[in-house]
Amino acid sequence: MVRFDKVTKRFGDLVVLNALDLDIAPNERVAIIGPSGSGKSTLLRLLMTLETPNEGVIYVEGEPLNMMPRNGKLVPADERHIRRVRQRIGMVFQHFHLFPHMSALGNVIEAPIHVLGLSRQEAVARGEELLEMVGLVDKRDQRPSQLSGGQQQRVAIARSLAMRPDIMLFDEVTSALDPELVGEVLSTIRRIGEEHNITMLIVTHEMGFAKEFADRVCFFDEGKICEQGPAKELLTNPQNPRTQRFLQAVL
Ligand code: ADP
Ligand code: MG
Repeated sequence: MVRFDKVTKRFGDLVVLNALDLDIAPNERVAIIGPSGSGKSTLLRLLMTLETPNEGVIYVEGEPLNMMPRNGKLVPADERHIRRVRQRIGMVFQHFHLFPHMSALGNVIEAPIHVLGLSRQEAVARGEELLEMVGLVDKRDQRPSQLSGGQQQRVAIARSLAMRPDIMLFDEVTSALDPELVGEVLSTIRRIGEEHNITMLIVTHEMGFAKEFADRVCFFDEGKICEQGPAKELLTNPQNPRTQRFLQAVL
C-alpha cells in the first residue's frame, strides 16, 4: 500500500530521514515511535506531500507519489499528479485545524462537496454517519469553540474520513489533549480500525495503545528505523539498546 524506497529528506545540512526503506501492507496498522526530532512527523508529511524528498521515491498503491513516469523515466511529479495520489490519504494532526466559523457537520461536509463533488444531501447523510461513528452526532450544529479538545479532535477524524481515504495518518493526535480526553480519541481510532478497511500510520507516545492496536511498531531514531517488529514483541522485549533506553524513559 505504501513504500518508501531509499527516501532521504534534508533541511539544509540536517539529514532528517536517511535513505529510509519502509513497506506497509494494505490494512496494516503501523505505530511509529521514537524521540522528539527523530523524523516521525517528516515521514508522515512526506506521505501527505506536505514535503518533498531530496532523494528516493515514495509509492502509494504501486504508484510513485513524488515522481511520475514520462518517456520511460521517472521525473518529478507535477501538481495534478500529486493531488490525485494524495486524495487517497487522510491526515489528522496534533492540533485540529477545524474551520472555526463552521459547525461540526459543516467541517465534515466541506471537502466532500467542494473536492469530491458530492451533492449537499449526500454529503450530509455521510457526514451524519461519520459523526455518529465518532460519537458526536448530537453536536452536529456546534461550532469548534463550543466543543472540548477531544470532541474537536474526533470531528477532525470524521472530516478526514469523509474524503474516503485508503490510508490514514495520525500524528500525535492526543498530545495536545488534557489527560482525561485522551481515551475517547483513542477509542475512536480503535473503532475506525474495527469498522473500516484502512491502512493506518500512527505516530504516538501512547505505548499501551500502540501495543494493543498496532500490528507493527517502528522505532525511529536519527532518521532511521532502528528496530521494528510485531507490536507486542517489540514493546515488551526490545532488542536494540536504543529502543530499550527509549521505552524505559517513556513507560
Ligand atoms: P519528530 O516528529 O520525530 O519530532 P520531525 O520530523 O518533526 O521530528 O523533525 C525532525 C527534524 O527535522 C527536527 O530536528 C526538526 O527540527 C527538523 N525539521 C522539521 N521540519 C523542518 C523544516 N520545515 N525546516 C527545518 N527543519 C525542520
Ligand atoms: Mg512530530
